[in-house]
Parts: sequence; C-alpha cells; structure tokens
Amino acid sequence: MTEGPESDTKISPFSELWKGAVLAIALGFLGWVAQTSGLLKPLDQLLLDWKSAADQRPASGDVVVIAIDGQALKQIGQWPWSRAHHADILNFLVESGASDVFFDVDFAFASDPEGDAQLISALDRNGGGTYLPVFAQARSSLGRGELIYNFPHEPFAQRSWFAFVNVFTQADGRVHSYPYGGVLHDEFLPSAASLLSGTYIESNDVFQIDFRINPNTLPVYSAADLLNDELNPLMIQNKSVIVGGTAVELGDQFAVPIYGVIPGPMIHALAAETLISASPPVQAGSHWTSVFHSLSLLFSLLLFRKRAVFFVGSLTTFLLAGEFIAFQIFSANSTIIATSQTYPAAILFSIWHLMSRLGINSIVIRNQAVEVANTKGLLQTVFEDSFDAIIVVGEDCKPITASNSALTLLGAKNHEDLEVPDKIIDTLKGHFRSGISTPAKLRTTLFRINNKETYLEYMIALSTWKDAVQGEETVKRIATISLRDVTKLKQQQRHISYLSNYDEQTGALRRAPFLEFLKLRIASDESFAVFALNLHRFKTINVTLGRHVGDALLKEVVNRLELGNRNLSSPVRLGGDSFALYTEAACTQQEADDLARWISDVVSKPYKLEHSSAQVGGIVGYYLHEGAPDGSISPQDLLSRAEEALDTARLNRSTTPVLFSPLLSNQQLRARQIERSLISALEKDEFFLTYQPQHRVKDGALIGSEALIRWTSSSLGMIFPDDFIEIAESTGFISELGRWILIRAFEETMQASNHLSIAVNVSGIQLINTDIVSDLKFALDSTGIDPARVCLELTESVFLSSLDHIVSKMNEVRKLGVTWALDDFGTGYSSLSYLSMLPLDKIKLDKSFTMDLHESAASNAITHSVVELCKGLGVKLLCEGVELEAHLISLREKGVSEAQGYYFSKPLTQTDFCEYVKRHLEATDNRNELRGNEVKKIS
Ligand code: C2E
Ligand code: CA
Ligand code: CA
Repeated sequence: MTEGPESDTKISPFSELWKGAVLAIALGFLGWVAQTSGLLKPLDQLLLDWKSAADQRPASGDVVVIAIDGQALKQIGQWPWSRAHHADILNFLVESGASDVFFDVDFAFASDPEGDAQLISALDRNGGGTYLPVFAQARSSLGRGELIYNFPHEPFAQRSWFAFVNVFTQADGRVHSYPYGGVLHDEFLPSAASLLSGTYIESNDVFQIDFRINPNTLPVYSAADLLNDELNPLMIQNKSVIVGGTAVELGDQFAVPIYGVIPGPMIHALAAETLISASPPVQAGSHWTSVFHSLSLLFSLLLFRKRAVFFVGSLTTFLLAGEFIAFQIFSANSTIIATSQTYPAAILFSIWHLMSRLGINSIVIRNQAVEVANTKGLLQTVFEDSFDAIIVVGEDCKPITASNSALTLLGAKNHEDLEVPDKIIDTLKGHFRSGISTPAKLRTTLFRINNKETYLEYMIALSTWKDAVQGEETVKRIATISLRDVTKLKQQQRHISYLSNYDEQTGALRRAPFLEFLKLRIASDESFAVFALNLHRFKTINVTLGRHVGDALLKEVVNRLELGNRNLSSPVRLGGDSFALYTEAACTQQEADDLARWISDVVSKPYKLEHSSAQVGGIVGYYLHEGAPDGSISPQDLLSRAEEALDTARLNRSTTPVLFSPLLSNQQLRARQIERSLISALEKDEFFLTYQPQHRVKDGALIGSEALIRWTSSSLGMIFPDDFIEIAESTGFISELGRWILIRAFEETMQASNHLSIAVNVSGIQLINTDIVSDLKFALDSTGIDPARVCLELTESVFLSSLDHIVSKMNEVRKLGVTWALDDFGTGYSSLSYLSMLPLDKIKLDKSFTMDLHESAASNAITHSVVELCKGLGVKLLCEGVELEAHLISLREKGVSEAQGYYFSKPLTQTDFCEYVKRHLEATDNRNELRGNEVKKIS
C-alpha cells in the first residue's frame, strides 16, 4: 500500500533541492566571510598545526644554537655571567669559523669591568660580525603605544650589529609568526632570523614560522661543552650561531604549536631556518576553498539527498579530499590553503539536511502509522463484524481472537468464555499434524450448543504468524476457523425431502411413496383392500367457508383416518379432496366392507372448524386384492380400481361404499367422457332448455315455468343435468354455462308468453364464484324481460356458511327486481333457524315430501308445518313432484299456493311449451268466458 516515503509527503523534492542549493551557496559565502574576517583563525591554526605535524622535516643545520643550559649555568655557578664567558664563547666561535654569531643575551648594561673588557676585545677581534639584540618594550608610564628600546651597552654596541629580537605571541598565547624586522627611530632594523639567514626584506610584516621544521633537529650544543673545549670547532664552521639561554631558570620560554614550550633562541633558530628554506608558509586566498566547498555540498545533496548516511559520507569524503589537496599544496610549496570555513558550514548544512530529512521521515512515519492504524481498524471491523464466524487459534487450539459472530454462534458471553467445540479441536489437531496450509474442505457437523442441535459448516486454514518477543522474531503456526450456522438450511433440506414424500397441506403421503408401500404390500401375497375416498360437498365448503377452512378440514380428515383404525395404512392424498388407504392386515371381503363404511362414517361426522361447523359426505370405493402369485398386478392398477369404484359411488350419489367390479367400469368411462365433452358442448350448441310448467294450486292456472337444462351430446347421447351439473361445477364450466342459460331462458320465455314467470336454477358455485349480478343485468337488458317475471332457484347447500356474503349478493339481485326461491327445501343439513335471515320470496318443498303425501302422515305433517312456516315468513310455497291429482287436492286443502310436477307436465321443449301455454291460455279464456256467462245469467 505504501510506495515510497517521498511520494507520500507533501514536500516537493524540487523545493527541497532548491532550498539545499541556496543554502549550500550561502554557507559557502558565509564560510568565506568568516574565514577572511579571522573568525575561524583558531581553527585554521589548528588545521595548520596538524598539517605541519604530519609533514615534519629536519632543519638545514646551518643554524647552530649554543645553549646556555642548566649544565652551563651549573658550571659557571652564577647568572648573569661575567662577560668574560661570553667573550670566551665568541672567541671560540670566531676561531672555529662561524659565519655569523648572534647573542640572544641581554647586554644592555655594564657588568664587571674585566669581563666587559674581555668581551669588547672579543668583539673587536671579530670585526663587527656579531649581532647583539635590540628589543622594544612597552612602558606604560610613557603612554599608550609608546615603546622603549633596549640597546646594548654602548661599548658593545659600537662593536656589533643590532638584531631585532622581539617575538610576538598571538591570542592563543603561542608564537606562530616572526617579524622580518622592526623600525627603530625611522630606521629599519632586521630581525635576528633575517640577519642569520642572510635575508633582507625591509618589511614590518611577519612571516609564519615553519613548524614543519622539527626544533629537535637543530644542532644545539651546550655552552658548558664549548667552554670546556669539548666542542668540535668543525661543528661551528660556516654556521650561523645563536648563543642564548635555554635553561628553564632563565625564563626565556615561549609556547609554540606542536612542540609545546621552547626557549627563545630556538624560536630564532626556527625562524632563521624558515627563511633559509626560502619558503615560509604563505596563506592563500580562501575563496576557491569556498567555491569548492559549495560545490561539494551541492554534489552531495544531488547524489544522496534521500539517504542521510550517504550524504554525510559524501560530504566528509569531499572535505577530506579538499584537506588532502590542501595538504599536498602546503607540503609542495608551503602555501596554506584555508579550509576552516568548510567545517562549520558542512556541519551546519548536514544538521539542516538531517533535520529536514528527519522532518520528512517523521511525517512519513506518522502517515504510515496512521495508515497502518486505519488498515488495522478496517480489518478489525471486517473481522469482528464478519457474517461468518471466525476464530483464530494457536497450536494449543485455544482462541487467540474471534469475531463477534463467533461469540454469538458458539453462545459465549465474551472472548474469555469462548471455547472451540471438541469436534473441531480434533480436526484442528489433525491439521496441525499434517501441516497442510491450503484451506481444508468444508465440513458440516452436528453440534450441541446451548442445548440446541446446531449444524455448523466450517473450514480450517493454517497459516504462520511472525511474532517479535523482546526483539527476537519467532514464527508461530495458527489456524483460522470459519464457521457458519446451517441449521436452518439443514431443516429446510429435511423439510424438502419430507415434502417430496408428504403432502404439505394435509400431512398425508404423496402418491409416489404410497405406491412404493403398496408394492411391498402386494409382495406380501396376502389379500387386502385398497380404498379410495372422496369428500362430497367439499368444494362447496371450500368456496363458501374459504380455503383455509377447507384446508383445515382436509387436515382433520387425514388425522381421523391416520389415528382412527390400526388396520389401515396412512392415507395418501390423490389430489383435491380424494384420498386412498389400504389394509395393513390380511382381510376378507366382509372386513373390507366394514372398513369402507368406517371410513365413510368417520369422515362424515361434523367438523368443528374455526367459528363454523361443517359436514361432508364420505364417498368410498374400494377394491379387494385376492393376492396375485404371478405378481402381474401393479400398485397403480390396484389404486385405479379403487378409484373406479369411487367414481361409480360418486355418480350414483351412493353414501354406501362401492366395491370395484369389472362391470362398473362403463360408468366410470362415461363420467370421464362427460367431463371431456362438456367443454366443447356449448360451442357445438348441444344444450337446450326444457320448461316445466308451474301452476296455481287454488285454480290450476298456469303461472310460469322452471327452465331445466338438457344436453344432447353428439358422442354420448341425451344427458340429464344430474349427470353433468356437478362435473360442470367442479371444472368451473358452470359459470359460462350459467350465463348461457339465463339468456336462453329469458329469450324463450319472452317468445312463449308476455306475462308468465320463469324460474332458473343457479348453482351455489355460480353464485359465489361469478359476478351473477352483472350476468343477470346483461341477460335482462339484452332480452328486455321484466325482472319481476324472473325467479332464481338456489339449494340449501349454499348456505352452509359465509351467509353474509351470499345474503348481500342475493340482496343485490333482488334490487334488480328479481325474486329468490329456496329449492329442494327439507333435504339440506341445516336448521330452519337461518331461513328468516335470507331474502327469500318463495320456498320450494322437495318432491320427496309431495310424493309421499297420499300415504305418509309424517309428510303431511311436515307439509302442513311448512305452510305455516311460509306464512310466518311471508313467502310463497311451491310444492314439487305433484304426480297425482290426490297430491294436488291435498296441497289445496293445506293452502299451498303453487305446484309443479308430472301431474301438470313433464319438462317440455320450447316448442312444446309454447303449445302448452297457448292451450292453457285458451282454456283459461274459455273458463273466464263461461264464468262471465254464468255471471250474466245470475244477473
Ligand atoms: P330440480 O331443480 O329440483 O328440478 C326438478 C327436477 O325434478 C327435474 O329433473 C324434473 O324433471 C324433475 N321432476 C319434475 N317433476 C317431477 C315429478 O312429478 N316427479 C319426479 N319424479 N320428478 C319430477 P331434472 O330436469 O333432471 O333436473 C335435475 C336437477 O338438475 C334439478 O333439480 C336441478 O337441480 C338441476 N338442474 C336442472 N336444470 C338446471 C339448470 O338449468 N341449471 C342448474 N344449475 N341446475 C339445473
Ligand atoms: Ca329447481
Ligand atoms: Ca327441486
């Protein structure tokens, strides 16, 4: 994620370079100023000392020092000496052939006359070739800057040359330089060294004493030796000789570079040697050094800007190289190149550079630290809040860290509580043993977590972990466990496999597994029965009470079958409201019949469902399998036979179970054919309506008719409504058919008469499932029939429940002006109590009561009370099934208002009905005419 420190800082490398360049030049210049202004003089001096020490060379030997040392002082035993000793020394030196003699001894005043005289004669003998010291001394009493000069005592002065001997110490208290001479009373006086070296430079200036010349190489002889005649005169021959005190007691000592403290005569000797070597060190201009220095700074900056150590190394190399060159130049021609200015500048520059680098680095480090913290934080969040649970464990299988989801999943309150399940630990150990680092395959295992069965899917991946303990790097192995709770998934899988065997809605077996069981049952070679069950009127319940009630009822049916009888297998749901079972034990035909009845009875008992109660009929068909040793019969064959028997029972509306017999098959075939043909029958115009006349009981007048449908199928022949209405209801075809009936009945009634009423049967399914109001409106509008002539007939079954819904629909129909009749009264399940709630205009008492009237007292009583009931309710009463005159008379006696039946007429085709209407109207007219005549007669 990090590229390079440079790229991350906001500091532009260019601005940094520019700054460096300007600073390098400025420091070069400043160094030069500091150097030339003398600020760096001590450093220069130090550097020169080092160079000089490194480049030591011997003295030429032309200058000899006769030292008045401790030995000499001891030998003479007093100080100052009598001048006689100096005279001895001078005589010896002159005799030995010394070219010059310089006495660095104070001869300013007269001493013992004899000694002085001897010296005077010695000086005379030397012929004025002797130098005696003159020195300037500050005399504070004479004012500032005023000097007094010490000249030799007059007799000596007259016989010698003067040598200027002042030696100046510098600020550091040491002697570095030496004068060429001094001006005395406007006259230039050469210094001792100038005289001894034979150099005459008339200058007030000083020169650098060349301390490369080692004073220890100067020929120094003790005055004692000389005085004792122990000095070889050859040592003196042609030499310039300095006679002076070197004994510490004499106090003439000076601090110098390199060599510490040396006596004054030695300084004169070194200065003379410097001049003899003709190369007193000369200070060169320092500006080139400054330029070189600035360049070296720039170079270092350019090359090693990014690496502090290299930068300092490069700069040091440059400085050393410069120093080396300076040394070589100094060594070769005594030119002193000042290098002092480079050091402070280089140090300052380095510090600046390092500081700025450090500044950048600290920014970089801070940035990186922030970035590392961010990344860490982000990873931590990702880790902690990860959807999958993650646990990181060490080789001891103990958790090192874990995501929050892991705590939740494993039911731990906090990280300390967390324990890796044992089953995973076993796998973990295996992993650590094998050491394979690639993630292992997903495993799904059942765990008990918090006393709950939990399926966990998990995966283990090994990795290594570098740890630094007290600076020592150790490599650990860790394992990352990713876990996921798949309990729900597992349950779903189980549920799905359950669903593939069991019907979700009812919990009954599905067909496929049922057939598998049946196959096993066949293999047992026993005789056993297979039952097929259908629920009569279930569709009506489903429609009227709602699907959820229907579902609950089916569940209860399965429940009753499942628990009710041990001899029966689990039921299978064949679809809709059809089920099947078989006997678990061997059975006879009688036993099979008993079981079939039991099945029919147990499902026919009333159901208490939610807020309503309901009842269905159990229609049962069954087949007795006698055993098939050849195994020729399939489970599907067995089931089909039971279903065929069921079909027969349904068609016969048989409440008693029907046993399969090969003869039944024709009926089943017909039922299926009906179902198939029904769909196209309307298009083929195979339906027609018949009209059964309805008469007033009182006077037998024709008041209207009931439309009854007929179907002449091209393939099946004449079919009666009892054979196809239920099928049309179950397929939903009834809606379409119902619409057709309404229009056709109205049309044909209009053709038959202009006042007779028309009763049309409406199926419960049609009322609930279709928009009967708009269908009716359409039929009324398109035919123009007076709604008051229309009566709709409805059977009781539709009122099983959801009364509100049906009543509101009935009321809507009534608002159109159409009336309602309750059909087949007396055959339904329900009580009379709801009758008052229904918007009825007429009740049609079922034909079974009418047909018994002439022989059954019960029917008479019932009819009688129904008459009373209808009076109470304010509705008309029509009795169906009037077949005999006796029936009509009985109805008339009881005050029944309307009747219908074969006694009047069977249902008639439209043409016949028109004929019937015509005849009746004529008969009525005739009666009225007759009656009119009678009236006339009476009057
Ligand atoms: P339902 O409404 O009770 O019709 C009366 C049935 O009794 C008719 O049978 C009729 O032919 C018969 N019947 C009339 N008088 C007598 C009699 O004196 N003695 C005897 N034994 N029977 C008599 P059908 O036409 O076969 O109708 C049977 C049932 O089919 C009807 O019973 C009705 O529920 C239904 N149905 C007929 N036509 C239609 C229709 O157009 N729409 C609907 N939804 N159902 C219809
Ligand atoms: Ca009817
Ligand atoms: Ca009826």
